[in-house]
Amino acid sequence: MNAEQFRRAGYQAIDRICDYHVTLRDRPVLSQVEPGYLRKALPSSAPTEGEDFQLIADDYQKYIIPGLTHWQHPSFFAYFPTSSTFEGILAELYTSSTSNPGFNWSVSPACTELEAVVMDWIAQLLGLDQSFYNISEVGGGVIQPSASESALVATVAARARYIHEHPQVAMENLVLYTTTQTHSLGKKAGLILGLKVRALGVTAQDDFALRGDTLKVALEEDMNAGFHPFILIGTVGTTSSGAVDRLDEIADVAKHYPFLWLHVDAAWAGVAFVCPEYREAYQLPAINSYVDSFCTSFYKWGLIQFDGSCLWVRHRKHLTDALDVTPEFLRTRHGNAGTAIDYRNWQLGLGKRFRSLKFWFVLRARGVKGLQKYISDGIKLNTKFAQSIYESELFSVVTKPSLAMTVFRLAPKSSTQLSTPELNILNRAFYARLAARNDIALTQTDLNGVFCIRMVIGAEQTLESDVDRALALMKSEADGVVNEMRGDWRSQR
Ligand SMILES: *Cc1c(COP(=O)(O)O)cnc(C)c1O
Repeated sequence: MNAEQFRRAGYQAIDRICDYHVTLRDRPVLSQVEPGYLRKALPSSAPTEGEDFQLIADDYQKYIIPGLTHWQHPSFFAYFPTSSTFEGILAELYTSSTSNPGFNWSVSPACTELEAVVMDWIAQLLGLDQSFYNISEVGGGVIQPSASESALVATVAARARYIHEHPQVAMENLVLYTTTQTHSLGKKAGLILGLKVRALGVTAQDDFALRGDTLKVALEEDMNAGFHPFILIGTVGTTSSGAVDRLDEIADVAKHYPFLWLHVDAAWAGVAFVCPEYREAYQLPAINSYVDSFCTSFYKWGLIQFDGSCLWVRHRKHLTDALDVTPEFLRTRHGNAGTAIDYRNWQLGLGKRFRSLKFWFVLRARGVKGLQKYISDGIKLNTKFAQSIYESELFSVVTKPSLAMTVFRLAPKSSTQLSTPELNILNRAFYARLAARNDIALTQTDLNGVFCIRMVIGAEQTLESDVDRALALMKSEADGVVNEMRGDWRSQR
């Protein structure tokens, strides 16, 4: 393809992307294809001769789009919200126009410098303590691909710090703490690094938040048994229910165990700190005064398209001590002098994508106010949805609604005699009906044995009418399943 052909194909691509975005509402939310659909449709080898690009572009429409779930659809309430803003699309286009692995400052100074600047902008936007800013030259922020990699990098740094301070300790006696509600990234970090993982218990009465006392008891138990807990991965906004670990209490306990690294995973909820009114309740003061590392993923609720997870550390030295491998061919004048950040020493891989460009474009185009409005609009819609659940004769909330997430279940007020296992059966059947539809997407979860359904709001196109429609649709499926099950229960009793 030459530049003129690219120009034409590019204009067409932009037109088609615009059409896709304005017709999102009319599409099914979920892909309807069966496993293996694409292998059946595509040839078994790459073409010998190059093909006409128009054919390729048309095949994207024909074969790929039907196999996509439309995460930006106004009726997508599953997992977590993601965005694909036009500003971000343009940034990704420019990024891909100069493929460049930006591992050192000197291989493309703009990549490193823009990342260091936008990470400070975001730190400010969230109200993070200045010790996390890159400009402090002590702490700093780096964009990782995912929250899982952020947690893994934090764990590697914590382990290196612990072993440095306790050289006599055997690796097999190290323990990584999570809670039963921590995302699978905790277990995975343990798996990758060959570490023991202990998941601390939480209760429904505490809204699934880790309490300080639970941590204290575990630390005493493990240390008496000769183990060495060295990191706790706490969560602000758990995946299942949006729970917030009591970081204030945890910090009070951890003060007496200064070798314990605290990493806070706020992948989804952390972005809400752009609205100052949520900072206190979602534990920002404890994050600022105590934790070693903090992560929030702007690719979820922060208007940045996948990927991009922001990780800040209080001491960048702990990252570079653990991850700096500098063979001769990577030595540079600026790196050696320590006058520039070499992000390769802050992450797992060597090269990194130029992700900061989309952060820069989106933050500038929307402004702080634009981002605040986007977040608070989503929370308002959820507050209204949760209110309807509270008032409903059919549904009840399972745990306190969190920001733009409500976890609820079908629990008809007319069937108060149903046991938890019976309600679980009812809710599985209810969820199966919702999951069989292609005009709405929700996610199921389990909270200490209670099967429930998560509703997460945040697609930019979602309006109040979409939430009302979702509720009406849930009611009609709920009526259907209750009638069906009532017959079953009657015949069993
Ligand atoms: C989504 C989510 C994750 C996983 O994020 P990845 O970027 O896919 O690794 C981890 N923790 C929480 C709390 C999440 O919401």
